Amino acid sequence: MKDDNFLKEHNARALWHPMGAPGDSMANPPVIISSASGSRIRDIDGHETVDGVGGLWCANLGYSNDAVKEAIAKQLHELPYYSAFAGCTNPSAIEASVAVQEFFAEDGIGRVFFTSGGSDSVDTCLRLARQYHQVKGAPTRTKFLSLKKGYHGTHFGGASVNGNNRFRIGYEPLLPGCFHLTAPHAYRNPYDEADPAALARKIAAEMVDEIEFQGPETIAAFIMEPILGAGGVIVPDPTFMGLMREICTRYGILMIADEVICGFGRTGDWTGSRHWGVRPDMMSVAKGITSAYFPVGAALISEEVAEVFEKDTSGAAAIWHGYTYSAHPVGAAAVTACLSETLRLDTRTNAAARGTQLYQGLLGLKEKYDIIGDVRGGHGLMTAIEFVTDRAKKTPMDAATVKTIHSRVYEAGAMVRPAPPNLLMSPPLIITEAEVRTIIEALDTAIGSV
Ligand code: PMP
Repeated sequence: MKDDNFLKEHNARALWHPMGAPGDSMANPPVIISSASGSRIRDIDGHETVDGVGGLWCANLGYSNDAVKEAIAKQLHELPYYSAFAGCTNPSAIEASVAVQEFFAEDGIGRVFFTSGGSDSVDTCLRLARQYHQVKGAPTRTKFLSLKKGYHGTHFGGASVNGNNRFRIGYEPLLPGCFHLTAPHAYRNPYDEADPAALARKIAAEMVDEIEFQGPETIAAFIMEPILGAGGVIVPDPTFMGLMREICTRYGILMIADEVICGFGRTGDWTGSRHWGVRPDMMSVAKGITSAYFPVGAALISEEVAEVFEKDTSGAAAIWHGYTYSAHPVGAAAVTACLSETLRLDTRTNAAARGTQLYQGLLGLKEKYDIIGDVRGGHGLMTAIEFVTDRAKKTPMDAATVKTIHSRVYEAGAMVRPAPPNLLMSPPLIITEAEVRTIIEALDTAIGSV
C-alpha cells in the first residue's frame, strides 16, 4: 500500500468520485476511510467515528462479519468465476438463488435474476416488465410511471424513472414514455397538504388520471421505493403503497418495488413492501443482499409473472439480457452467507428498536433547534433531518452550511450523509444503543456550534 501522502495527493487527481464535480474533490478532498470494524470506521489520519451511513445504506451487518468473509474466501479458492450464460452455471449461484427464494417466500417471490448492483436490478425489472407484456400479447404496454423524488440508480432506464432532475439533466434525452407522479412528501408537496393520508389519496387520484390520460393499454409498470431513500427519507402514509398496488392491479400494470435500500431489514421488516402489507410483482434488490461484502443485486420475480415467461412456447420469453457477473460464484457465496447471518442475527428487530431510538433522538433535537424544519424516519434505520433558515416559511438551508454541520458531526464522532438541505442516516443494522447515542450527541454538538 502506498503511503498516506501519496493517497492524499492522488485522491482527487487520479480518481473521479461518483456524485460530485471533479473540481470540487480537488478543492475539498474526500475523507479516506482505511479500516473498519463493527459499526465503526477509521480514516487514514486515525480519526474513528460511528458509521451513521452504513457505507451507503448497505453495510447492514457492519464490517466484521467473519461468516461472510470466510464464505467469500472459500469460494475464491474453489471457483473464483464461471458464467451463467450459454448453458452453464455454478453451484454457488444455485444455492444463493434458493436462499433468496426462501428469504422472500412470504412475498410471493418465485424466481431470482442476479445482477451486479442496484442500477442493474432496476433496469432488469424495467426490461422484464416490457417483455412480460409482449409475451402476454400486449406489446403496446411500454410506458413507465414512477414518483418524483424517487431514486432508481443511474443506468439509462433507472435515470428515466428517477424523480430528481439532478440525475437527469445533462444526460438527456432519456427513455421516452416515462411519467412522474407527485412524491408522498407531507412536508413539501404542490398540494400544500400536510395530512399524509389525504396526500396519499390525492396522489392515487393523480395516478388514475395519468393512466386514463395515457391509456392503460400503453403502460407497462409503476416503480416506487417503499420508503424513498436518496430523495430524503420520504416516508409515505401507511396506506400509500397499498393504494398504488390496488390501482396497478385494476389496470393490469406491473408494480415494481425498488427495495435496493429498504430490503433485508432496514425498515424493521425484511422488505419495505411487507412493512406496508404489499406484494409487488417484481422487486429490485442489492446492498443488503451481501451487506456490501461483494457487489451483487437481483431482480426478484413473482410466481405469477414467472409463470407467464415459463409457459410461453413462442420464443418471446427468451431473456436476451444479463451481465457478465450475473450469478458470480463469489458474489453468490456472499449472498448465501449474508442471508444466513441476517436471519441468525435477526437484524430487522434491532433495526426497528435502534431506528426508534434514533428517530426519537432526532425529534428531541428538533425541539431544541429552530434550524431543524423536519425530521423523518420512525420505520427502522432510515432517518433524515431537513434544515431550514426559517421554520415557518420552510426556507431550505444553503448547501454550504449543511456541509459545515456535516463536517462538524464527523469531528464530533459520527459519519452522516450530506444531501442538502438534508442530513441522512442509515447505520449498520447491528448498531448498538450506545453507538446510536453517539450519533445523536455528535449531531447535537455540531448543530449547536452553528
Ligand atoms: N435504487 C435505489 C432505491 C437506490 O437507493 C440505489 C442506490 N442507492 C439504486 C437503485 C442504485 O443502486 P447502485 O448504486 O448499486 O447501482
